[in-house]
Amino acid sequence: MKNKLVVITGASSGIGKELAITFSQHGYALLLLARRVNLLEELNLPNSMCRALDVRDYASFQKFVSEAEAKYGPTQCLINNAGIMPLDKIYNLDLDVQNDMVDINIKGVLNGMKTVMNQMKAAQTGTIINISSVAGRWTGENRAVYNGTKFAVHAISEQTRRELAPFNVRVLTVAPGLVDTDLISTTTNSEVIKNYGVWKENLAGGLSAKEVAEVIYYAFTLPQNVALKEIVIAATKQPI
Ligand code: NDP
Repeated sequence: MKNKLVVITGASSGIGKELAITFSQHGYALLLLARRVNLLEELNLPNSMCRALDVRDYASFQKFVSEAEAKYGPTQCLINNAGIMPLDKIYNLDLDVQNDMVDINIKGVLNGMKTVMNQMKAAQTGTIINISSVAGRWTGENRAVYNGTKFAVHAISEQTRRELAPFNVRVLTVAPGLVDTDLISTTTNSEVIKNYGVWKENLAGGLSAKEVAEVIYYAFTLPQNVALKEIVIAATKQPI
């Protein structure tokens, strides 16, 4: 199991959970991170370490990765997937909520990358996968801050990729369209939730988290010298 460690944030639900199951089915050791550690443990995956992590907590991030690496060897792949999406007009969103989005969706990614990046650079191998969104490509109603966080993930990933390229470290930006998960759960405005539900119904739910996880896994399985730099993936009927 040495040298087959994959670290996944936000593995308690949605895309992260399906990534955990998919990588596990292919024999990888896992460090599964999320705040609801009970949901990680319920997955009951072999060779997995589950830890309650808020991605805003860099010290704990480092501690848990060290623990997992002591057991399974160096991190081969980090997937920065944790994110929240409280949608509303920016003038309705509390500043606390806006800051949470910035801290989780952007700074969480920075914390994750900082934890593994220099080791991958020194080892001249490794893969970092940052889950952005099509909301990192265009702006949309009720998404001012969410768009901002995902544009940031795109930009940071883009330049990180360029800076790590000489060291044989791959950086992949994934930009999904609508995926059938609990992502809307941090939105509180009932009108916004209702409209999102109608949009989702019209797109037959969008993609499943499993479909997205399988595409990401495929990108990961390519030889280390073949890097899919960016993936934009959505249901065929979603006109993005
Ligand atoms: P879910 O709500 O199902 O999953 C979100 C995950 O993020 C949960 O496991 C949650 O775990 C975790 N998370 C949230 N906040 C924190 C935190 N502070 N620290 C650690 N973990 C946290 O949504 P998705 O699976 O859809 O979302 C995954 C990613 O995909 C997000 O980055 C999202 O922006 C992106 N995405 C989703 C799309 C969609 O349509 N669903 C479209 C495009 C992108 P816990 O609460 O246990 O901490």
